Amino acid sequence: MALKFPGWNFLRKHWLDLMLYLAVLALAVTGLCLLPVFFSSGEAHVLNINVDGTIVKTVDLARQQEEEHFEVEGTNGPVTIGIKKNAAAILASPCPEQYCVRMGWVDDGRPIVCAYSHVALLFVSNGDVDVIL
Ligand SMILES: [Zn+2]
Repeated sequence: MALKFPGWNFLRKHWLDLMLYLAVLALAVTGLCLLPVFFSSGEAHVLNINVDGTIVKTVDLARQQEEEHFEVEGTNGPVTIGIKKNAAAILASPCPEQYCVRMGWVDDGRPIVCAYSHVALLFVSNGDVDVIL
């Protein structure tokens, strides 16, 4: 019943990649516009952890007193995420290039993305969430 043709999985995977890139691009542009807000207001950072476009965990980094590590299941294996007060990082990932890991701890609102694992760590400001979305 379902339409099947060679490469369906391949196309589907790339469609998801494309959507992820577009989403990240949109959020990055939004983030750039909001950077002055982050710096001027000193508002709490809320971190949304996305896997494959779905928020799997939300953390209020302003209330994160101690450094904490945990794993999320990326599309290509587990990804280790670190959180601490007002900062987050991807500490380990199965991706070949390790760009996300090399970003280290981010505390200025830049998104941390592992395209290979379809994992994105996106900072939002407490007071602005409703306005942005
Ligand atoms: Zn990565």
